[in-house]
Amino acid sequence: MPPTPPPRPPTPPPEWPYPKLNLRIEDLAHPGAALFLDNVNPLAALRAAVLASFEWLYAKPELAPTNVQSILLVLRPMDGVAYTFGSHTEKEIHFSLDHIVNSTSRARDEILGVLVHEVVHCYQHNARGTAPGGLIEGIADFVRLHAKLGPPHWSRTPSPTDKWDAGYQTTAFFLAWIDARPHTKPGTVRALNAAMSDAEWEDALFVKLAGKPVKELWKEYKRELGVEDEEESKDKEDEGFTLVRSYNPVYI
Ligand SMILES: [Zn+2]
Repeated sequence: MPPTPPPRPPTPPPEWPYPKLNLRIEDLAHPGAALFLDNVNPLAALRAAVLASFEWLYAKPELAPTNVQSILLVLRPMDGVAYTFGSHTEKEIHFSLDHIVNSTSRARDEILGVLVHEVVHCYQHNARGTAPGGLIEGIADFVRLHAKLGPPHWSRTPSPTDKWDAGYQTTAFFLAWIDARPHTKPGTVRALNAAMSDAEWEDALFVKLAGKPVKELWKEYKRELGVEDEEESKDKEDEGFTLVRSYNPVYI
């Protein structure tokens, strides 16, 4: 009688498709470089940012995109905070050493928060480039918010003239509210991101995924927060007034 074959080892759970992570520091003598290295472990910080993006946008390793082969983080003196660019496979994040110095008192949280925001841009879908820019920025800060790395100056309350896609924390808090609505399936933001993977943007996606037109949701949200209705400002806009959008100018 042939010997009984040994039991098969259990299939290991699928793992998140981490890319190769690289770091370049363009001025090691800059005080921001020392602050960065004193406050975070570069590999752990980048991996945490990748994981936050995966978990909040894709939930399961099988659903995570596998196209990103590498992310290069470049720390250098520059204006602004950070930006991300790259090809389908290679991404590059530039992060300002001056901004790190300006955030000395909360350097660690600021570094980790900005990394989450920028890494989301490496992984989120954008409806073939047709999604509203404010939604793209709002989703990046939605993930930052859920990673508990929102800076203390962020305010949930939008200004009366803000639109739903004002971007950054304004849109991030709105998306978080939609995700938490009793009649919305949890994971609306994930579903929104998935719907943007291979189709062009349409506002009607909100009806499909959150049950109502986005403008109605925005009105309801503002009402709940006790923010004055935008109708008045809309009238002014119709009369030819130009509204100043409250875009957060610090990072893109
Ligand atoms: Zn951004």
